[in-house]
Amino acid sequence: MIAARTFQKKLLTWFDAHGRKSLPWQINKTPYRVWISEIMLQQTQVATVIPYFEKFMQRFPDIFALATAHEDEVLHLWAGLGYYSRARNLHRAAKYVVETYEGHFPDNLTDLMQLPGIGQSTAGAILAIAFQQPATILDGNVKRVLSRLHGILEPINDKNTEEKLWEIAVKFTPKNRVDDYTQAIMDLGATLCTRSKPRCQTCPFQQNCTAFSQQLTHILPTKKASKTIPTRTATFLIFKKNSQIFLQKKPAQGIWGGLWSLPEIAGEPDKKSIQLASFQQFKLTNFTMQTLAPFRHTFSHYHLEIHPILIEAHFSSAKIMEASEQIWYNLAKPQSIGLPKPIQTILQRIYDASHSMPKTQQASSRTRHTAITR
Ligand code: SF4
Repeated sequence: MIAARTFQKKLLTWFDAHGRKSLPWQINKTPYRVWISEIMLQQTQVATVIPYFEKFMQRFPDIFALATAHEDEVLHLWAGLGYYSRARNLHRAAKYVVETYEGHFPDNLTDLMQLPGIGQSTAGAILAIAFQQPATILDGNVKRVLSRLHGILEPINDKNTEEKLWEIAVKFTPKNRVDDYTQAIMDLGATLCTRSKPRCQTCPFQQNCTAFSQQLTHILPTKKASKTIPTRTATFLIFKKNSQIFLQKKPAQGIWGGLWSLPEIAGEPDKKSIQLASFQQFKLTNFTMQTLAPFRHTFSHYHLEIHPILIEAHFSSAKIMEASEQIWYNLAKPQSIGLPKPIQTILQRIYDASHSMPKTQQASSRTRHTAITR
């Protein structure tokens, strides 16, 4: 096994020559910026994160700006990054840091791990990168590098293997230049020791790597087989009033918690259920319905088959009193609210259709698809 000192030295030499040193969060490095970047980078690639990070920083340049923002705006800026609980946790953590520490980010593992959304590896990254403390990270990239280097055959998502990897990661963490080391090991995993087709020919650890010498790079790391995920089907109701679409806020807990979505019915479109839902929501008895192209969205634990149905009617103003969790979203002047990606897609399609199709064609299309008129 390669000695810790040798590993650190080789890794830092490689980093000095090839590491990434001008990512937005590496410039003007503060605990706040490092924290935001680390949360955004969970399960998300650097190239995807960069524009989100920059927009986020423009609107929330410090923890006070984030703590005093409305959750809708935070989710709006997060929309498209997925795993929305990360954004809600960021917001909660910002409030907590302002209330408890007067806005000063904690600089120790215990207090950091008290904050919503911060686990041991993220806390380690913040301490190492922002505070130059010899703390350890073990994210997906690091697990892959270490398991290949040390030829660990056991599944990396097994508890015992994870403990073993933590031991190695702690042993390898240096006291000096720990910020560069942390960035370097993540960079190595992201740019050379990649999931498929690792670039071993240019890797500084080729001579020390068990996976390379035993031709196991395509096998390691191993994982316990994950179960195949099920498919759910839902009908999304798009109530349209002129250029406005009716949206409801999802409960804080559960899928798309705190985001704005369309009313939905479980299962494929069913005439009676749509009639009932339209009556319950708006007392509608007379409306036209248009079936839009269904599409699939995949969550980590299931696929969602979405059937959008466009419903247009005369909405009596007395029946559309807005509650705080319900809005008419103006397609022409969109509000800054958090919208899940599939809802953004549906709204964009409706907006594009109403702006690209001549009026006469729109009318005939609507008539052709009219399924319910009472
Ligand atoms: Fe990864 Fe290949 Fe380097 Fe081993 S030699 S650490 S498999 S890139």
